[in-house]
Amino acid sequence: MYKTLRFILDLIYPSRCPACGDFIGYMDGFCKECESKINMYEKDYKIKYSDLSVSVCFYDENISTAVYTLKDKGGNAPYAFGLGISKLIESYKISKVTDFIIAVPMYKKDKLKRGFNQTELMVKEVSKITGIPYNFDAIFKNRETRHQKTLSREERIVNLRNAFSVKNPEVISGKSIIVIDDLCTTGSTLSEISRILKENGAKNVFCCTYCRTSPR
Ligand SMILES: [Zn+2]
Repeated sequence: MYKTLRFILDLIYPSRCPACGDFIGYMDGFCKECESKINMYEKDYKIKYSDLSVSVCFYDENISTAVYTLKDKGGNAPYAFGLGISKLIESYKISKVTDFIIAVPMYKKDKLKRGFNQTELMVKEVSKITGIPYNFDAIFKNRETRHQKTLSREERIVNLRNAFSVKNPEVISGKSIIVIDDLCTTGSTLSEISRILKENGAKNVFCCTYCRTSPR
């Protein structure tokens, strides 16, 4: 069903590689050349309060254009990233034990300004590919925070402390949840979200991101 939909969409908006812009097959994420340059991560790592933290690849010059395309709502990027994350979820065999997927939420005002949350677009693709439902109402960002980029690791933790809230703890309690984001740098956002979910009774929290900066 989803394959047919993508086939029809491809007739109207031919799929392009989010890294180089070349035309690609309607079920492809990247072109063959860009895909071969992706520096795969291949092992899990530790994020506080999370039960499993994994990324598809390292964040480097081979993937940075595609990340920019995603933030700019560029055509095939949500599908390309969603496809990679879906394969990651399957390889760690967590789809069967997961109740639902959430996207790292944006503050309401920021989402209105951009017009969309790029991570939600990715999550919708993951949901279509894996069949795991998503829930964008489970958690929300309750205030504006400073841009993480300019802050040190300690400042990032303080900046995000209690910035996320759960609407209804019953939705979270006893559930196994996948949290998705495009990029993981220090992991402080994912750690804070995992903390809130666990505090509200989540059974398992799995953090899946497309890329991660090399730990320093
Ligand atoms: Zn390409």
